[in-house]
Amino acid sequence: MTTLGSNRRVPAHLADRLLDVRRIYHERDIERFPRARQVLERYPDAERIEVLSHQAIPGLYGNAGNVADWVRNKREVLVLGEKKSLSARRNERSSDWIAPSTANGCAMACSYCYVPRRKGYANPITVFTNVEKITGYLERHAARQGPKTVPNQCDPVDWVYDIGENSDCSVDALVSDNVRDLVGLFAGLPNAKASFATKLVNRELLSYEPRGRTRVRFSLMPDETSKLVDIRTSRISERIAAMDDFVEAGYEVHLNLSPVIVHEGWLADWAVLLDQVADSTSERTRAQLAAEIIFLTHNEELHDVNLGWHPSGEELLWRPDLQQAKRSQSGQWNVRYKSPWKGRWVQQLTDLLAEKLPECRVRYAF
Ligand code: SF4
Repeated sequence: MTTLGSNRRVPAHLADRLLDVRRIYHERDIERFPRARQVLERYPDAERIEVLSHQAIPGLYGNAGNVADWVRNKREVLVLGEKKSLSARRNERSSDWIAPSTANGCAMACSYCYVPRRKGYANPITVFTNVEKITGYLERHAARQGPKTVPNQCDPVDWVYDIGENSDCSVDALVSDNVRDLVGLFAGLPNAKASFATKLVNRELLSYEPRGRTRVRFSLMPDETSKLVDIRTSRISERIAAMDDFVEAGYEVHLNLSPVIVHEGWLADWAVLLDQVADSTSERTRAQLAAEIIFLTHNEELHDVNLGWHPSGEELLWRPDLQQAKRSQSGQWNVRYKSPWKGRWVQQLTDLLAEKLPECRVRYAF
């Protein structure tokens, strides 16, 4: 462990594996925010480059072709900016609300990830530094909702806010205390909980005090598949091994079974994975589990980019024999598994989950 500013202890090997920050783009006067000062102090040797806006950085975004650069950027670049417009968006699938982001971008590089598509491919982590404004907004928003009176698939009792739609909070927590602040906020809210999906085990989070008010959704898929498409993430066995520890530390732990990638023998691989979860977790963990199941969607443009840097993953992700295409509003071709096959596969995996982990309810599957 390494101590880095503000008494935080960060797992050094993890931070070193994912990040080697050499350049920090920041908006003007960013040091007026304590959170910006924290990040800048953490990387004192990084070159600082002032930019007009965190969204418009010449030479950083918009280059789908130069894959080597955008993967390197994930490791070497951070962006500091102010989140200007704050709003919580209705969701109603995994969460009731999508919270305004305290970060976007990711240091990992899953080949099916849609975040780089939105952000112009190079998507290093942007840290939003006005975190007090964001937590204040969330506190007032939750207070306005009052008690949740109608249980739904997100949660039977609490309003659920997704705090990691455009990033992975376990990585964000390596860079700043934004996630710690969010977990602390929700620990004190009577009617709301935070939720995020993750593909990284960051044990620093075990030192926070979530008091049951933050849900961590560990993202799982069969290991052999994960090795091909989950780039720079924690291995599946490590994620499963962390589940009990997160429950013991006061988190609610759920499963994010996604993306489900269909190939010859896929269901047998999922049986092995679910057996591993059942065999490696405590009764207490299994009793509080719930899962969301999301089958893969893919995109022609992302497929073309991936062929340039990671073609073996595309053999799994791009299966025209199994997929059907739909033109998106932006004119892109998105693909998903053909109906009615997909409906049958959803049912097969849901049945398998009921057999292997009978305690685990399915929040939704599609
Ligand atoms: S961990 Fe999540 S946000 Fe990061 S690259 Fe993978 S899918 Fe994208």
